[in-house]
Amino acid sequence: EKLLEVYNLKKHFKVGPEQYVKSVDDISFFIKKGETFGLVGESGSGKSTLGKTIVGLQGSTDGRMMYEGLDLHELDKQKSRQFNREMQMIFQDPHSSLNPRMRVGDIIAEGIDAHKLAKGKERKDRIYQLLERVGLSPDHAKRFPHEFSGGQRQRIGIARALAVKPKFIVADEPISALDVSIQAQIINLLEDLKEEENLTFLFIAHDLGMVKHISDRIAVMYLGKIMELTTSAKLFAEPLHPYTQALLSAIPMPNPRSAGKRERIVLAGDPPSPMDPPSGCRFRTRCAFATDVCAAKVPEWKEVREDHWAACHLYD
Ligand code: SF4
Ligand code: MG
Repeated sequence: EKLLEVYNLKKHFKVGPEQYVKSVDDISFFIKKGETFGLVGESGSGKSTLGKTIVGLQGSTDGRMMYEGLDLHELDKQKSRQFNREMQMIFQDPHSSLNPRMRVGDIIAEGIDAHKLAKGKERKDRIYQLLERVGLSPDHAKRFPHEFSGGQRQRIGIARALAVKPKFIVADEPISALDVSIQAQIINLLEDLKEEENLTFLFIAHDLGMVKHISDRIAVMYLGKIMELTTSAKLFAEPLHPYTQALLSAIPMPNPRSAGKRERIVLAGDPPSPMDPPSGCRFRTRCAFATDVCAAKVPEWKEVREDHWAACHLYD
């Protein structure tokens, strides 16, 4: 069952006369109810912009989105408030995403207050429960964000997202800014919450290794487009797109014997500027398989094999 469907989504930023950064450029996919959907890409690939656009923190330039079968452009006021509540975001930097002048309890209750979900004692109890839920303690409610470590601040951000009983959470690199020793704790917390609260996750990360074990399906983004999308198992066993193959070849293998088949593919050069992406396939300037057709035609986004999408002329 599909929770969110995205069709031909675009988010372009005007940066000068007739100049646009096409951060999200004609992307179509869906997210299933209850899954963890990993979205992976280098910095500048547009993954955060895609996440924010989906949650509604910024408008789209073009395209359509459906939530539980309803077109987001056609929701009435009440439905649209419900949608705003049910979709929450956890941010990369737990430092800058928490207002330093607000007490932790009020930060957590921001959504409760905005959606008028509880007040007085009920509100307070809810804050205490949420703090405990994320591994903090009720008396943390009156303190300020700077009194907490990075991991604890991320727990506060998670409590704030949970406060409004969301169904869908976009987690934008929630552990990238944290010490490695803390990362697993936060991942475990998110996985527990997902089970207990029946959440659906869009989990954004900059490397495949980070999303491998937690994701049901994974999409790989490059310069504003999704290059490949399939189950985590298929992506690692049988990557179809040359970009995915290169990313995977860079991950150290736990068992060096099985690494024999996989040779390290070194990508030539830096990613091109998203302001002036290559014609045709955007990956072609770094692709070892590029031919004339790759410069002439944008590869079609299609289901190449069952539940396995890719955009590459090798599969025409
Ligand atoms: Fe490489 Fe061409 Fe496929 Fe792009 S379309 S990934 S350039 S083979
Ligand atoms: Mg980002």
